[in-house]
Amino acid sequence: MSEEREAVPFNRPFMTGRELDYIRQAHAGGQLAGNGPFTHRCQSWIEARTGCRKALLTHSCTAALEMAALLLDLRPGDEVIMPSFTFVSTANAFVLRGATPVFVDIRPDTLNMNEALIEAAITGRTRAICVVHYAGVACDMDVIMDIAGRRGLIVIEDAAQGVLSSWRGRALGSIGHLGAFSFHETKNVISGEGGALLVNDERFAARAEILWEKGTNRGSFFRGEVDKYTWMDVGSSFLPGELVAAFLYAQLEEAEAITRRRLAIWRRYHDAFETLERAGVLRRPVVPEGCAGNAHMYYLLLESGDARDALLAGLREDGIHAVFHYVPLHDAPAGCRFGRVHGDMRHTDDVAARIVRLPLWPGVEPHQARIVESVFRRLGHEYERQEAGAS
Ligand SMILES: *Cc1c(COP(=O)(O)O)cnc(C)c1O
Repeated sequence: MSEEREAVPFNRPFMTGRELDYIRQAHAGGQLAGNGPFTHRCQSWIEARTGCRKALLTHSCTAALEMAALLLDLRPGDEVIMPSFTFVSTANAFVLRGATPVFVDIRPDTLNMNEALIEAAITGRTRAICVVHYAGVACDMDVIMDIAGRRGLIVIEDAAQGVLSSWRGRALGSIGHLGAFSFHETKNVISGEGGALLVNDERFAARAEILWEKGTNRGSFFRGEVDKYTWMDVGSSFLPGELVAAFLYAQLEEAEAITRRRLAIWRRYHDAFETLERAGVLRRPVVPEGCAGNAHMYYLLLESGDARDALLAGLREDGIHAVFHYVPLHDAPAGCRFGRVHGDMRHTDDVAARIVRLPLWPGVEPHQARIVESVFRRLGHEYERQEAGAS
């Protein structure tokens, strides 16, 4: 019983056990700057596992999105179509280049940008579509790539939450012209802060490497392709050091196992809450046909904002830390200043008020029955445990 009273955090970073060994190896090897052996191993892993043309490790998904915005050579007044129901970096990366985010509403089922609303938001200044695979659940990339192809637009996938998810057998992040991963400690595969830019369109590959290495052709120099390296273009220091890459490699090696474990936790929540969905007190996540998810998150949509707030408070009293997000970008102070809305934001506003995210991390399993019971009780229902001996 005492163990059951222990507070359950919303997230706890999962360690595979090999992180310190690899950091020790990097330390012993004497190369601590970026673009060394562990960086190459991580990038090869991402390329092999996703099928992207080229992967470049970055300090964060935010940095990878900033690289994408630089690669597009955006000018002030250019527009990028994106959802408002996302993290600030999706918009900020483009705003930093002077571009205008054009916010489009989400689908009420997957909570991804509604692909049917994209085409009407395109103007003569639209340069790109930045999709977000919310909760690691794929956007309809067939429709989106078709629109982009017909209208001459670039597609950037904010796949921060989508590592090891797929759409019709293709890894998220590898379908658009450019993709961005996050390895932030709240994501599935982590390095504290960390990310990667996935370059899928050959046109961007050589320049991406130059921007990444402070605007120099240092990469070509190390491959022996030029006999000195020099300033070639704009750029910045987007690459992490080898200690971070060493940590990340230990995680990538276990990424499939981590995902399987998360999927089992997700499935247990999903089965348990079926009766509450049938009773009409909440709605469970929807994973569309064609998507193989990565169980990045488990959320519930309550009947109203008040029911959501009451559930969050109740869970808190029971020692369970659940959270909500996102505060939509379109009517945030910076969203009003830098962005523009196309159409109404009905589902974005509605979902933001009614969503609850439950703890989902490898290691939460012993607490899961208690979390489920607490949700049932706080919603005025009784949960009958399925498994014998669960208490
Ligand atoms: C986490 C997240 C980011 C930012 O990732 P960082 O690695 O922290 O920069 C961007 N977009 C989405 C959708 C995210 O979930």
